[in-house]
Amino acid sequence: MDDTHDLVSSVTKFSPRWTYEDESQWPGDKCNGGGVRQSPIDIKSSSVIKDFAQQFIQYGNLILSDYHQVLLTAINNGYTIMFSTVGDKEVHPTVTGGPLRHEYRLEQVHFHWLSEHAIDGVKFPLEIHFVHVRSDLNVKQALKKRDGLAIFAVFCKILDQEDQIERAFDELTFLLSKLKRVESQVSDALLNLNKLLSPNTDLYYTYAGSLTSPMCNEVVTWIIFPETIYITEAQYNLFLKVRRGRYNFRNLQEVKSQLVFQPPVGFFKTPQIVTSLKNAVFTVAEFFQNVTRFMMNGMKTP
Ligand SMILES: [Zn+2]
Repeated sequence: MDDTHDLVSSVTKFSPRWTYEDESQWPGDKCNGGGVRQSPIDIKSSSVIKDFAQQFIQYGNLILSDYHQVLLTAINNGYTIMFSTVGDKEVHPTVTGGPLRHEYRLEQVHFHWLSEHAIDGVKFPLEIHFVHVRSDLNVKQALKKRDGLAIFAVFCKILDQEDQIERAFDELTFLLSKLKRVESQVSDALLNLNKLLSPNTDLYYTYAGSLTSPMCNEVVTWIIFPETIYITEAQYNLFLKVRRGRYNFRNLQEVKSQLVFQPPVGFFKTPQIVTSLKNAVFTVAEFFQNVTRFMMNGMKTP
């Protein structure tokens, strides 16, 4: 059985065992406030520890490899749109360094609207999660290890410049129209995931937390990039249609043992100049354009 399906076993078949409307009923012993490092949290930038002492960020620079050409399958699992890596695990994207003692391979990417994490009380319209599993473990094993998973969070803001990406918007309409129905699926999209990553991956917050959906396992090293990417309001509205206007975020969790760190060096760099704003729009637009192109090629006839 495919590991990826273990990870999301509770969601791949949508006979919902839990819903976002009733978190108090979620299964899992940590899900109902029993844990001490639950996610998501509100990150208070004033209390983030600049990790000069290498308390948590012990392994140098964060090193991301092979996100530029990734073979993925997309599914509407009833909770979100999710892209899972397929094919040879040896060529999946990997991350290591920073707070990560091991190498982690990318298993899947999915979307939350609104964002799950907040920074200084502020939420974002969209949060993208890149879920990585420790390369030396399968998913089942990883879900039992304190450092079993590493998840990136990338925030999206909404730009008010729809005219520039009308074509991409049209194609996104097409994509989401194919994934609107629960359990609908699109095979073999080849995507450059760099385009959905933060423009500055040297800049991040990190803490030891949990999955944000059942079983809420406390096995996640979160790596949260505060520098956002951009989508248009029209694109955002399409995400909302996937769940008929309903959001898919877990509520903020009480901060107990979730100490948040940041690499001191990265945060002293001059922030990227905002001339990249326009590029960011095209970047995300191009991503969706690619999704659609591969969908059209890879679409299976029923
Ligand atoms: Zn998520």
